[in-house]
Formats: sequence, C-alpha cells, structure tokens
Amino acid sequence: MTYKDPEKRRAHLRAYMRAYRESHRDKLRPYMRAYYLAHKENYRAHDRSYRFTRKAAVLTAYNPTGRLSCATCGEPRIGALTLSHLGPTPAFPRCGHKLYSALRKANCPPLPLLTECMNCNVTRDNWGNG
Ligand SMILES: [Zn+2]
Repeated sequence: MTYKDPEKRRAHLRAYMRAYRESHRDKLRPYMRAYYLAHKENYRAHDRSYRFTRKAAVLTAYNPTGRLSCATCGEPRIGALTLSHLGPTPAFPRCGHKLYSALRKANCPPLPLLTECMNCNVTRDNWGNG
C-alpha cells in the first residue's frame, strides 16, 4: 500500500508495526531483552535525562521567582530540591516522579505548592517558618 501523504504513510506503518509486534511477541522478546541489556547504559542515561528535565520544569514552575532554586534560601542543586505542600492537592500523587509527571501533564496548574530545598521543607514542617 502506498501513500503520497507522509503522515498517512507513517500512521499506517506505525499501526502495522504495532500489530506485528503484538502477534510476534514471543519471537521478539529475547531479541528485545538482549538489545536492552547491550544498551542498558544508554537507556538509563536517557531515562535520567528525561526525569531531570521533567523535574526541572515542574520545580521552576512552582518557584515564584521562576528560577530552578529554593524559593526560601536559594539553594540551586536540583538533587536537594522538592515541592513543599502549603495546602491540600488531592487530585495529585503526594510526591516523587509520579507527582512531577502528573503536574507536567496537567501543565502545572496553580496549586498551593512551593519549590524548596529539603532543609527548608523539613524545617517548615517541624518548626513553622522559624
Ligand atoms: Zn532552602
């Protein structure tokens, strides 16, 4: 089957390959597993990069200054940053990459969340603002 429209051709091939993979799953599985193991570092690096980008976008969106840093003390290291819950956010997961993923999917809606470092977050939870 030939398509002059590249979009239609691409959609057709995508559907064809999806059906092929479904019907030949048992045959393809060992090959895919071996490929994954041979390229594991690439997969993990890509995953890390994707997670970093997603977390950075969400944390930047919930910092009133628009920077990737703690809104309270200015700590810039992303590994130390988290979202502080200033109020309830019942429609979203509580923390971690599920939360970042859901927020990014929802286009970072206005919620009572604030980007803070772990020290400022724990200090606020235990001692108020002091
Ligand atoms: Zn801080």
